[in-house]
Amino acid sequence: MPTAQTRKSAITFFKNYTDMKEIVSSEFEQEVLKGGKVVLDFYSSECPPCEALAPKFESLAKLYGNDIKFLKIFRQQNRELADQLGVKSSPTLLFFDDGKEVGQVLTGGVKRKDIIANLDQLISEEEIAIIHDKIKPSVSEYDVMILGAGPGGLTAGLYLCQAKINTVLIDIALPGGHVATTHEVSNYPGFIEPQAGYMLSHNMSEQTKLCGTAYKVAVDVSKVDLDKREVILDEYETVKAKKIIIATGTSPNLMGIPGERELKGKGISYCATCDAKYYGDKEVVVIGGGNSAVEESDFISKFASKITLVHQFDTLTANKTAQEKLLANPKITTMLEHEPRSFKRDGDKIITEVEDLKTKEIKTLVSDGVFIFIGMKPNVQLFKDKLTFDQWGYIKTDEDMRTSMPDIFAVGDVISKKYRQITTAVSDGTIAAIAIAKELN
Ligand SMILES: Cc1cc2nc3c(=O)[nH]c(=O)nc-3n(C[C@H](O)[C@H](O)[C@H](O)COP(=O)(O)OP(=O)(O)OC[C@H]3O[C@@H](n4cnc5c(N)ncnc54)[C@H](O)[C@@H]3O)c2cc1C
Repeated sequence: MPTAQTRKSAITFFKNYTDMKEIVSSEFEQEVLKGGKVVLDFYSSECPPCEALAPKFESLAKLYGNDIKFLKIFRQQNRELADQLGVKSSPTLLFFDDGKEVGQVLTGGVKRKDIIANLDQLISEEEIAIIHDKIKPSVSEYDVMILGAGPGGLTAGLYLCQAKINTVLIDIALPGGHVATTHEVSNYPGFIEPQAGYMLSHNMSEQTKLCGTAYKVAVDVSKVDLDKREVILDEYETVKAKKIIIATGTSPNLMGIPGERELKGKGISYCATCDAKYYGDKEVVVIGGGNSAVEESDFISKFASKITLVHQFDTLTANKTAQEKLLANPKITTMLEHEPRSFKRDGDKIITEVEDLKTKEIKTLVSDGVFIFIGMKPNVQLFKDKLTFDQWGYIKTDEDMRTSMPDIFAVGDVISKKYRQITTAVSDGTIAAIAIAKELN
C-alpha cells in the first residue's frame, strides 16, 4: 500500500504536465530526448485504430499525467522523424526514459493493458500503487449487450433501440468493423455510386447511436462470462445484461513465418486503408489472391509505383470483375505459384523470400512494404468451450441466431454460414434483434 510520504512525493513530483501535448519534429529533442519519462503517439488522420486509441490515451494521460509526459505527433506531417524512429504505421506508441527508447513498440489496435504495462515500467512501485488505486471498479446493467459494432452488431443495436430495449454496444475498436477499413463498397443496396467504407460504417454507427443505444468502444474486453451474462472491460468495469449478441466478426490470418511478428506495423501491414498512403511512389509486395488482396492492391496502386502480388495458386481466387481490374492495372504484376517463406528488414527495405512452388527455387523480393491479405479467422477466443462451433471454428446458430446457450445470440461473420458480406451481417443482426425484442417485450 502507498504510504502518505509516497503519495505526497507523487503529487509534488512532475508538476509541469498533467495533460497531453501535441508536438512537431523540431520539438522532439527538447520534449522527448530531454523530456524525462515520455510516451509518444504517432497518429494519422483517417486511421480507425488511431481513433480507437485516442480515448484510452486521453484517459491514461489523466491517470499518469503527473508522472509521465503524454505527447502526440501527427505522422503525416512529421514523416522524416517517423522514418528515423522506424515508425511505419499508425498509431505507433513509443516510450522513452531519459532520452532512451524503452519498453515495447505498440502499434495497430493498441490495448489499454499493454499501454499500462509499458507506463508502469517507467515509474516506481509506489507511484504504480497510487495510480492503480485511483482506478475504481464499476457495474452497469442493460437488457441486451452486443459484443462487436460491425454491421451485424450495429444493425442489431438499431432494431433493439427502435424497439425501446435498453442496449449497449461494446467494441474493442471503433464502431464499423471491417467496413470502416474497406476503401470502397459498391454492393451495399441503396447507393448508386460506390461508398467509402468508413462513411458507410460511420452512417450506420451514427444512426444507431442517435437512436439511443449506449456505446462502450475502444475498450479491452478483459473477460466474458456467458453463464452470468457479464463482461469485464478494461479490467475494472463490469457490464451485465439479460441477453448477449456476439457480433465479433473475423480477424486477418497471419502467415506465421519468420520475421512477420517482428515487422508487423514496421513495414508489414494488414490494412490498406490505414497504411497505403505511406507508400507514395514506393514499391510494395501484396500477399494473397482472393477478393481482399486483389481489390486492396488496386487501392494501394493509387499510391505505390509498383505492386507485386504473390499468390500460392496458379489462378487468382478473386471474382472476375476484380481480376479484370487488376489485369488492366499497369502498376501490378502477379507472381503466381509462389509462397512467402520469410521477411527481413534491410535498411529501409523489406526483403521477402518467396519459394517458387514449381521449381522450389527461393527468390528475393525487395520492397518498401508488405501487405498481407490471406483470409480471416473468427473472433471467438473469449467464448471457447462454451458454445457449439463448426469445424472451422465459427459459431453455430439456429434461424433466429440463437447459439447453443440460452440468451446468447450470434450474428454476422462470426457465425457458421456460406456467405460473409455486409448485407448478410445486417440481415443476421435484424433477425436476432427482432427475436430478442419479441422475448423481452
Ligand atoms: C478488406 C475487406 C473488404 C470487404 N469488402 C466488402 C464489400 O465490398 N462488400 C461487402 O458486402 N462485404 C465486404 N467485406 C466483408 C464485410 O466487411 C463483412 O462481411 C462484414 O463487415 C461483417 O460484419 P460483422 O458485423 O459480422 O463483423 P465485422 O465487420 O468483422 O465487425 C466485428 C466487430 O467486432 C469487434 N470485436 C472483435 N472482437 C471483439 C470482442 N472480443 N469484443 C468486442 N468487440 C469485438 C471488432 O472490433 C469489429 O468492430 C469485406 C471484408 C474485408 C476484410
